Amino acid sequence: MAAIRSKNTKPELLIRRGLHARGFRFRLHDKVLPGTPDIILRRYSALIDVRGCFFHGHDCDRFRLPRTRREFWDEKISSNRERDIKITSEQLELGWRVAIVWECALRGPKKINLETVIDSLTQWLSSDEKIFEIRGLYQCSPP
Ligand SMILES: [Zn+2]
Repeated sequence: MAAIRSKNTKPELLIRRGLHARGFRFRLHDKVLPGTPDIILRRYSALIDVRGCFFHGHDCDRFRLPRTRREFWDEKISSNRERDIKITSEQLELGWRVAIVWECALRGPKKINLETVIDSLTQWLSSDEKIFEIRGLYQCSPP
């Protein structure tokens, strides 16, 4: 399958810089792990995946199917979604904890202050929660 996951995207760099500034050290894009996670913090048994809302079909307003070739995109995004679910469960099964940071948390009108994003990641890292997700504002919990 073609590489739909682009590495070193701007949101990913923001997260890396933020964590680094707080003293966290990590590996990047470890191909040995399922899904080649973006950021690997072995000491915390933690993986951080920064996901683009379009290619990963996030249920937010940054994702909208293009008007042309709808069927193609629909199929592609659906298979990306399925793949993400499969990979996350494989990672959890291997004993990793997984944080997903959505692009809309870092970009666009609903973005969250970067320091706040890093704060919550830092808190999560020192917790024992298995899975954690950060997304754009006003959509955090259903009304
Ligand atoms: Zn999103």
